Amino acid sequence: MVSRVIPVDPFDLVIFGGTGDLARRKILPGLYRRMASGQMPKEARIIGAARSELDRAGYQQMVKEAIEEFGDPRHKSDVAGVGDFLERLDYVAIDAKGEGGWPELKGLMRDGVVKAFYFSVGPSLFGDLAERLKSHGIAGDDARIVVEKPFGHDLGSARALNASLAAHFEEHQIYRIDHYLGKETVQNLMAVRFGNMLFEPLWNSQYVDHIQITVAETVGVGGRGSYYDKSGAMRDMVQNHLMQLLCLIAMEPPAKFDPDAVRDEKLKVIRALDEVDPHHIVRGQYDKGPDGPGYRDDVEDARSRTESYVAMKVGISNWRWAGTPFYLRTGKRLRARASEIAVVFKDTPHSIFGPEAGLHRNILTIRLQPNEGMELGVTIKEPGPGGMRLMDVPLDMSFADALGPDAEDVPDAYERLIMDVIRGNQTLFMRGDEVEAAWAWTDPIIQGWIDRHDVPKPYDAGSSGPDDALALMHRDGRKWRDIKV
Ligand code: NAD
Repeated sequence: MVSRVIPVDPFDLVIFGGTGDLARRKILPGLYRRMASGQMPKEARIIGAARSELDRAGYQQMVKEAIEEFGDPRHKSDVAGVGDFLERLDYVAIDAKGEGGWPELKGLMRDGVVKAFYFSVGPSLFGDLAERLKSHGIAGDDARIVVEKPFGHDLGSARALNASLAAHFEEHQIYRIDHYLGKETVQNLMAVRFGNMLFEPLWNSQYVDHIQITVAETVGVGGRGSYYDKSGAMRDMVQNHLMQLLCLIAMEPPAKFDPDAVRDEKLKVIRALDEVDPHHIVRGQYDKGPDGPGYRDDVEDARSRTESYVAMKVGISNWRWAGTPFYLRTGKRLRARASEIAVVFKDTPHSIFGPEAGLHRNILTIRLQPNEGMELGVTIKEPGPGGMRLMDVPLDMSFADALGPDAEDVPDAYERLIMDVIRGNQTLFMRGDEVEAAWAWTDPIIQGWIDRHDVPKPYDAGSSGPDDALALMHRDGRKWRDIKV
């Protein structure tokens, strides 16, 4: 298989927060990898803009070290390539809230290239950056801005953020990143659903028993404790990442693969979500385990009631999904790191093989990590004599196997999304109304916890989460899929 890397147009990409953790761990090594893959034209330039008083050489050194530390091992040793990448870098010390550095930034920008501005800074600076980009005449009507999560803390703050950006930029210029949407498998989910005849006719409550979406992490809150404790799993994961996955699974086929057509369909799903019954949600908080502290130690608050785990049952009130529950769960310090969507089909209406053959169900599993890929469980006859006994076998498509060496060049989520910004393709970015609708659904759930003085259930670090989450499924005669190590 020959991989097709299509170079993007020449660009000036300014990374506000270009010295920060996200820039050093993800954005810059990702850009380097795109260059090494031949996707970045010679004229492409990247300008770091942050508070630190660095000169160009100092920034180049910092980025070199970041690539050495966080880059893809296959490209790290390519010293000539790194030099080539560093040549494209520039730096300006800037004050997002003041006037320092803005004229210098303007002086660095070129005409006739794509202009993109990545806001890799806290959301409290989004409005300041947007305003100054305009007042200094740096960003015109064709410029693009990229904003990071968290996009708001609730509906009110999300609306305020949208308004502060909308005061200076049109919606078609704003790229709200949810890096889950940049994952290869997530896009493959759309390819599988809408590129095959096989699945879509079965993709509804008549044939699908239920759907499980799991995003399990082994890490705790680590150094992010003070941020996380104000947020919790509901805001940090469910409102954005799990919601986006849910939308892509549940949405109607868009008329075309075009940003607004796709986002219109996602928005309809969010608006059709049922209010969640408080009995259908379990919140958890990890306890200390043999290999690490508990949540409350991590956030240094012995009375914290923030959840590090959520499991819930959600319904969608529309013709396609009425009667099919969606079970979502996400948490930290769980047994394994695993993200997957499982579409569990119903039993056959009648087993011609009798009860001794056992009950078997088709399950389509979409794995986001580790080993991105898909697996379809089908029922076959157990080989050999002894009558008709049935067994499940996976039809497995791991991308690494299917694509061979080309899989190594599959861009990671950040790489792909940044290249989409340069191409001007918003399909994999959240629109303002989508984000607001997701908060409008999330807010009453969180408010309910506050009103009821809800205390999260403790769970052992390294386990599968609180027992109540198992009960949530058992009550419905179902069970969670194993979080495999
Ligand atoms: P960070 O604290 O490591 O870096 C912040 C950057 O912003 C620095 O470069 C700093 O110089 C710059 N900055 C701060 N105040 C400034 C000002 N007044 N003027 C100009 N520059 C200023 O933060 P981070 O972890 O890189 O996160 C950046 C954003 O990305 C945040 O909104 C965060 O929530 C989001 N995010 C981060 C991660 C991650 O893995 N780090 C993941 C998802 C989202």
